[in-house]
Amino acid sequence: MHEASLVQELLRIALGAVDTHNADNPANRAVRIQEIVCDIGLIASVEPQTLTGCFELFAEGTLAEGATLTLNTVPLDCECTACGHTFSLTQRSFVCRRCGAGELHFSGGHGLSLTSLRVEEEKDHARTHSGRTQ
Ligand SMILES: [Zn+2]
Repeated sequence: MHEASLVQELLRIALGAVDTHNADNPANRAVRIQEIVCDIGLIASVEPQTLTGCFELFAEGTLAEGATLTLNTVPLDCECTACGHTFSLTQRSFVCRRCGAGELHFSGGHGLSLTSLRVEEEKDHARTHSGRTQ
């Protein structure tokens, strides 16, 4: 399954980033990933729902368990090969907006990339905990 390998790669990068953070900040370790934000190409052949489902499955037992996976679709820059009009596609409708031709030139738009991570740090955790017990 395409989504599964994307999610595994995504998790590998996210967990690797947390490891690096923890190695650099031993006094302020990240104890949990709260949110993973990704850019997803307009023509990436993935179903967000399937991706989220895979994510929940693979994140189980890792620091990313229970994290929110936020997917932002990135517009795709295109050029019409008939009239030369350049524009950004935000939907999978591959027709020139000026002349109606269906011959568009573009590159990219397939990928899934990690753009940011939100983590819970040990000190946040401690603060929340002490706040609750006082
Ligand atoms: Zn055109």
